[in-house]
Order: sequence, then C-alpha cells, then structure tokens
Amino acid sequence: MGLLPHKKALCRPLALVLTCALMCALGAGCQQTDEKHETTIFAMDTVMTLTVYGDGERIGGQEALDEMVETIYLLESRQDATREDSEIARLNQSGGETVPLSGETADLLGQALELCALTGGALDITAYPAAETWGFTTGEYRVPSDAELEELAGRIDYTQVQLGSSGELLPTATLASDVELDLGAVAKGYAGEQLGAYLKRVGITSALLDLGQSTIQAVGGKPDGSPWRIGIQDPAGEGYLGVLELEDQAMGTSGGYQRYFEEDGVHYWHIIDPATAAPARSGLASVTVVGPSGLTCDGLSTALFVMGLEEGTAFWRAHRSLDFDVIFISDDGSVSITPGLEGSFSLADGYQDREVTVLS
Ligand code: ADP
Ligand code: MG
Repeated sequence: MGLLPHKKALCRPLALVLTCALMCALGAGCQQTDEKHETTIFAMDTVMTLTVYGDGERIGGQEALDEMVETIYLLESRQDATREDSEIARLNQSGGETVPLSGETADLLGQALELCALTGGALDITAYPAAETWGFTTGEYRVPSDAELEELAGRIDYTQVQLGSSGELLPTATLASDVELDLGAVAKGYAGEQLGAYLKRVGITSALLDLGQSTIQAVGGKPDGSPWRIGIQDPAGEGYLGVLELEDQAMGTSGGYQRYFEEDGVHYWHIIDPATAAPARSGLASVTVVGPSGLTCDGLSTALFVMGLEEGTAFWRAHRSLDFDVIFISDDGSVSITPGLEGSFSLADGYQDREVTVLS
C-alpha cells in the first residue's frame, strides 16, 4: 500500500519525465500514467464505487483511494443518525442538552441548515421521525394513520436546531427535545465534495466518485480528456433515459424509484414532504441537480423533488447565483432541463422521441 507503481516511479527524474512526455506525444508506452484504481464499498446505506486514474504528486492513486475509504467510514460513524454512537444520534437523544460536534459535522450541519432556510423548508433535516415511522430507516414499512402524520408533521422544524460553540470555541449543537434530525439528504453529496477537493489537493486530476443513489462527484474528465458520461435513470423503467456529460462537477438525483415500498398497489417512497410528513407527491418522478458543490446538488435534488416542476423552476430562476442546473423528469415521463445542460444532456438510445423542454 502506498508505493508508487514501478513503471510510473521511473518517470520521476526530470530527464525521464521529458522522455516519458516525448513517448506519450508519440503515443507509445505511457498508459501506466492513467492506471485505473477502483474500489467498491458499502457505506451510508448504499453501494459506493470510487475510481481514480493515475497518481497524485506525492501519493499513489491506490493510497488516495484507501484514504478516501477511511474518510467515508469516519464521516459515516459521526453523521449517520441510525448509528447509536454517532454525533447525530447523540444529538437526537440529548433531550435538549447541548452536544459537542466535530468540525466536519458542524460544517455539514451549518450548510444543511442554510439550504433548509433557502428552500423554505422543502429540505428539512428534521424529517427523521417521519422517515423512521414510515420504516425507511429500518425496512419495517407501514403507512401511518392521519393522526400520526399530523403529529409527525408538527415535529418537523429545522429552526429547532441551533449551532453554537462551547467556551473553548468547539462547535456544538442543541436540538429541541421532540425534534430529531438526519443528514441523509445531504451527507453523500458532502462526502463527495470533500473527497473531490482532497483529490485536487494531492494532484489527482481524473476521478469519478460514485457515492451511491446517483450521487456523483467528477474530478476533471476521463484520462483522455473527454468528459465523464453518466447515465440518467428512467424513473419508470430499468434503463438509462439520458446521458449527462460531467467535468469537474457534482451531480445528485432524488427519485421516488430509489427507495420505496408498495402497499395496496400504492408506492410510498423515502422523500418526505415536510408539510405532511408523507412521501412527497409533486408530480415529479426524479430530479437531478448538477453544479460545482456536491452538498448543494444533493440537498437541492431532494428539495426540488418536494417542490415539483413549477415551484422548482421558480426556485431555479430566483437562485441562479447558486450556480446549478436541473433535469426534472415528471410522472408522465416528460423531461425538462435548464439551459445550462443543453450541450451536456442527451437522450439515450430508445428515448430519442421523448420531448425535452428547455426551461427559461
Ligand atoms: P438518497 O439519500 O436516496 O440519495 P435523497 O438525497 O433525496 O435520497 O435523501 C433522502 C433521505 O433524506 C431520506 O432517506 C430521508 O432520510 C431524508 N429525507 C427525506 N425527505 C427529506 C426532506 N424533505 N428533507 C430532508 N431530508 C429528507
Ligand atoms: Mg439529496
């Protein structure tokens, strides 16, 4: 672990770097600089595949992968509400007492709360008791009664989460005792953003981080310089409805097809409308958000799914300074994209006759 591959190491001295560059220019013998390193893990309740091409300036590609896997497990151990000893679980069990947080959790929580406010509570990280009651955290699914839903909706209120700091300036948080939070809607995007920034710092220029459930962080493009090509799932089928080209960008998708159960012929999915504590039914089947920030893409995909096409489009118009683009796929299969994706989104084979509306 951590050793540079032999052939690559030979390229290090300056004279040999020049020789290697010349060989590359001639198209011979330099494939090892693009060596693929890949690992698949199960973390944050999903399957993640991290792919890195080549090495960094002082760190091998494989070593960088190992570092990233450790970081994901560390973030998960601190931020996963379903883990009894996580910082978030401690906060949920605190009975209103102030709880110390690590810098990363405070950073994520602070940014998540900003997105909750910005989206007018369509993203609300205190939807956790509702997600739990529906069984999305345990797999023991059930449809709650109307009275239960009313009680649950009354407990969803992100303004009941206060970030602070202790006397020593260590970050802390305080949560009202009947409120519980969960960072599931933003944690994967945040992790991707952190890992992407890490790869850039160590000089890795080509990587694709698939954080699961269509949460993607692209570092650079493919080793040959072309953009990464990401399949956009058809929410109503098995295949890819479209292809999105990404370069140095993040992407997050929220869809009713990703986690759901069926009862009496009705699908109930894991994206909760904070106003009703029930699965959000806004007429959308999936929302994909693309932009420079993984956390923003992940959080906004959830929020825009809750808002629906009309309100979501109005949100996009009003927040252009946030720098994000969107693919909305409606229940009837129609596709709407923001103009920033006109050059990078295309329909897949078999979907060519699907109408794509470019929003303005
Ligand atoms: P996924 O985690 O499958 O990628 P999302 O990013 O859309 O999907 O996040 C959904 C998760 O976030 C749910 O599993 C639940 O824990 C939580 N959640 C559900 N609805 C909301 C909401 N409106 N705001 C914030 N978190 C939510
Ligand atoms: Mg999300």
